[in-house]
Amino acid sequence: MAAFDWFWRAMGGSAARKNHKRGEHVAAQAEATREESARLSDEELRTRLRQGDDGERLAALAEASRRTLSLDPFPCQLQAVQLILGGDVIQMATGEGKTLVGAMAAVGFAAQGRRVHILTVNDYLARRDAEWMRPLVDFFGLTVGAIDESLSREERRDVYQRSIVYGPVNEIGFDVLRDRQVTAREEEVQGEVDVALVDEADSVLVDEALVPLVLAGAAPGEAPTGQITDIVRDLVEGQHYEIDDERRNVFLTDAGADRVAAALGVESLYEGEDAGSTLVHVNLALHAKALLIRDIHYVVREGKVQLIDSSRGRIAELQRWPDGLQAAVEAKEGLRVSEGGRILDTITIQALMGRYRTLCGMTGTAVEATDQLRQFYDVGVAVVERHKPLARVDEADRIYATMAEKNQAIVEEIRRLHATGQPVLVGTHDVAESEALAEELEDLDVAVLNAKNDDEEARIIAEAGDVGRITVSTQMAGRGTDIRLGGADEAAYDEVVAKGGLAVIGTGRHKTARLDHQLRGRAGRQGDPGRSVFFVSLEDDMVVAGGSGERITAHPDADGRIEDKRISHFIGHCQRVTEGQLLEIHAQTWKYNKLLTDQRAIIDERRARLLDTDLAWEEFQQRAPERAAELADLPGIAEAARSIMLFHLDEEWAGHLSIMDEVRESIHLRAVAKETPIDEFHRIAVREFKDLAQRAVDKSVETFESVPIDEEGAHLEDHGRIRPSATWTYMVSDNPLSSSGNSVFSGIGNIFR
Ligand code: ADP
Ligand code: MG
Repeated sequence: MAAFDWFWRAMGGSAARKNHKRGEHVAAQAEATREESARLSDEELRTRLRQGDDGERLAALAEASRRTLSLDPFPCQLQAVQLILGGDVIQMATGEGKTLVGAMAAVGFAAQGRRVHILTVNDYLARRDAEWMRPLVDFFGLTVGAIDESLSREERRDVYQRSIVYGPVNEIGFDVLRDRQVTAREEEVQGEVDVALVDEADSVLVDEALVPLVLAGAAPGEAPTGQITDIVRDLVEGQHYEIDDERRNVFLTDAGADRVAAALGVESLYEGEDAGSTLVHVNLALHAKALLIRDIHYVVREGKVQLIDSSRGRIAELQRWPDGLQAAVEAKEGLRVSEGGRILDTITIQALMGRYRTLCGMTGTAVEATDQLRQFYDVGVAVVERHKPLARVDEADRIYATMAEKNQAIVEEIRRLHATGQPVLVGTHDVAESEALAEELEDLDVAVLNAKNDDEEARIIAEAGDVGRITVSTQMAGRGTDIRLGGADEAAYDEVVAKGGLAVIGTGRHKTARLDHQLRGRAGRQGDPGRSVFFVSLEDDMVVAGGSGERITAHPDADGRIEDKRISHFIGHCQRVTEGQLLEIHAQTWKYNKLLTDQRAIIDERRARLLDTDLAWEEFQQRAPERAAELADLPGIAEAARSIMLFHLDEEWAGHLSIMDEVRESIHLRAVAKETPIDEFHRIAVREFKDLAQRAVDKSVETFESVPIDEEGAHLEDHGRIRPSATWTYMVSDNPLSSSGNSVFSGIGNIFR
């Protein structure tokens, strides 16, 4: 494809192109009115924001930023604001000032009476940005707040009423889930949502898109029995089971199935009454044994299994695997199997974003995510040029035959750079790699970022540009923090510039070029000097996965280094293959999710009618006229009726999720029987859902006729119909098997919770 085509395609087609042109035009207009704006009073600026044309509006925002934050926005920042207001995801390089851009755009939306959520990747950034930008928001008489994990329901409700809300995407999602359980409108905290402005948009909208957020209530989970765990423990790879090339799935061979069946004393694993559930349990135990590796995918701490989040390379406090798998890993490690929760409701980040009327965002790397953003969210991508030209040097990959030779070379390169005093930032793929590297460099002072808290990481990475620093970080660690040359205070700025700026080393190419660019982007902030280089070996996961089946001959030198254009091209080819696989998986997975999302929307509609009208009471009057007549004069009968109907509706939905979850777990087993998994899944989902609403009403009528109902309401608890109160929330890990920073690898494995 010609470079020109590529460019416009990257711009997301003609609508985005128009928007882009207009952005430039309006930014120029704004520049022209800047001087005039500088002479206006505060009050006049406020009026300009509401009543001026687009250029005047931007100029008012810029002038207010200067007055309140002492930041004078660059023309490219104003252009970015205009593009965001037009509904695009903008690409703007790291360190160019997207926080200010986001805040100005949010104020612009809020001035039109719209309510804005600025979604961040963690609590720390939400708090930081809300505080940092508060003076600008206050200036215009608008309100701003931040959601964070520690807030109570009441505090959240208060924050959500502000015109601009900063919040970590998962917390915002958990509030949606909790709000979908209320039995009276006034218990909701979030209310209607309007504009989502997503920071690190590619990470949230693409990489994390299919991570399910889960709300669970107390109820025991089900684990494979100790017997199954023990039987599976003795199986041998290649003989009893096989693992696919991408190491994402594991299959029993016939010999394996026979062996397990014999050990269990059953005729066949695939037939018989309990075959379905036995097979699921064997499969879980096998998955836990063969694909989940201690210290790579999880750690065992204080008698508990704790997941390592593959995209962030840190301990994921909030994450669990789907219950059966979590329990299977616990059983494998000989730990007490933890109580699994009953899933009450779940939402993926992609579905969460679908609730907003307007979706826009910003990131350092959007262009390569253009297809996904268009396909899954119907938003365009616009590129904003740098404020100063890029002075970073991106070297060609250094390619080695083996992983060992590569690692050796990485260590040597770090030592060589460090000897000159140049700061070095090393990007690794996971925690284990970070720690191994730090061990190799034991004699030096190395800061390792992983599995710690975000505030502390921010403080460490802010210093990564200081003289003689070595910082080792996984993909997401410390994201959003500015790396200034010469330290956070820039005390040694000139010295570091003289040494060539920050040097970034990638320990391997990622599964997408986008993630490579993100790492490189850590250097070369606002025209600073800097350099970046990736080390690659032919044994790297990405190369093996992307180049599977292809034969290559290479001629390494004595150190294992390969300098051959053909091989460089081959590495690029492998990456394009893995990118294609990711896109395909995302599309497939979304197909599975979409139906449940649509079904949930139907439930939501019904819930809304039950909450906002006396429909429940009316239905009982029709369906159970005698009992209704008895209770007709009871104060609060409409609320009591409502609580019964909602209880059963929610319970049926939770039941539906649990059924579909079982189906999901066994769907690839069904595929063996020559049914297309997705069609089969849809067929079952539609069938199961068809009678759900009716079943909920029937059960409600039964309850209405049998439970005591008085002034205090319906005593559901007398009949064991207790709305689970001890609810908690977590994220289900994306596929634990992806070794690089990309959760889209989830496949259809873990998507339903
Ligand atoms: P990004 O999110 O794009 O990586 P940040 O919003 O973290 O960048 O900002 C990076 C740095 O640039 C911050 O230190 C901020 O204070 C500074 N900055 C942003 N806009 C301006 C401006 N117009 N003039 C001077 N400094 C700015
Ligand atoms: Mg940022």
